[in-house]
Amino acid sequence: MEKAFLRALERAKEGQELTHQDIKSLLAADEQESQLLFAHADWVRQQNVGSDVHLRGIIEFTNYCRQHCHYCGLRADNTNAVRYRLSEDDILATARLAAQCGYRTLVLQGGEDVHFSPEDIARITSEVKKMGVAVTLSFGEYSRDIYQLWRDAGADRYLIKQETADEKLYQTIRPGKKLKDRLQCQQDLKELGYQLGSGSMVGLPMQTLDILARDLELMRQMDVDMSGIGPFIPHPDTPLGNYTSGSVAMTLKMIAVARIIMPLVLLPATTSLATLAPNGRELSLRAGANVIMPNVSPQEFRAFYAIYPNKASSPDPINETRRRLIALIEGENRTVGQDFGHSPKAQFQQ
Ligand code: SAH
Ligand code: SF4
Repeated sequence: MEKAFLRALERAKEGQELTHQDIKSLLAADEQESQLLFAHADWVRQQNVGSDVHLRGIIEFTNYCRQHCHYCGLRADNTNAVRYRLSEDDILATARLAAQCGYRTLVLQGGEDVHFSPEDIARITSEVKKMGVAVTLSFGEYSRDIYQLWRDAGADRYLIKQETADEKLYQTIRPGKKLKDRLQCQQDLKELGYQLGSGSMVGLPMQTLDILARDLELMRQMDVDMSGIGPFIPHPDTPLGNYTSGSVAMTLKMIAVARIIMPLVLLPATTSLATLAPNGRELSLRAGANVIMPNVSPQEFRAFYAIYPNKASSPDPINETRRRLIALIEGENRTVGQDFGHSPKAQFQQ
């Protein structure tokens, strides 16, 4: 085993704040070293956030998007995408069904779709809140005033991933956009009292170990409540369509190090990892993850929310999917979170 790896793991076990070099040494772990890394991350998870796994239902309510992200199949320029948006009534009916099934958090996710006005989103948010669930919103970059409007309407959390901590790579994959503006959105959301979800993709073209380490350090610095780390998966109808997917092994190492350096963070076993590895959810739960976010959108639309191809999604009705996931969680000797699953860092527990 590498000395640098063992030294960094030792420092982690002593509870020291890991340096950039430590993080890189952990991310460079080989297969055997990775087992030690995962075991420690699993221990940190148990000590800090216990055995609960939180289930969040995602409603992908629109796949229209005004943005041009080079990695994403929903980008405005992809004319092959079949577009849909749910009506307000259908969003609320979907949310009601998921709440009745037992979901205590619903995530409303979509492209940046100008068809929905800020007031529409505020109205939908307050209606969903009345169903007795926590609400996460996730549809990109808006002004602080608009985030304020949605917060006042009852939104608890906002998921807006940094995608990559490298300014240059960021500008390459999100043409016309700047990382600092994304981080300003994150800062605004935090100041408005949202629980902040960030995250990044693993295996982006031109990404180095140094950038991966900085991804984790940036999330630690932003003091995020949630970090969704998943592999990049190329979509053929995008400018990055000819690149290769991120690696399952590196994604798991990123999850494990995220748990170690941010012990209280909520860490999903991402759908993108489950897309690349049939047991991706189980592997993530063993490496520090404590959230699963199944799709609860109406079945007829699921295939069209193709941010990347073959996105793992069960064709089953949502109650069956939920039963299957509960069995998976219990099979891992874990428990299903019964409360809202708020960030342990959030001051306000509802
Ligand atoms: N439009 C919103 C939310 C929907 S996209 C936004 O962009 O913030 C949700 C996430 O999907 C993105 O944050 C990105 O990390 C992920 N994603 C998009 N394309 C992907 C791809 N090809 N491979 C892996 N993840 C991808
Ligand atoms: Fe739109 Fe989000 Fe896809 Fe970018 S990642 S094109 S903002 S849906």
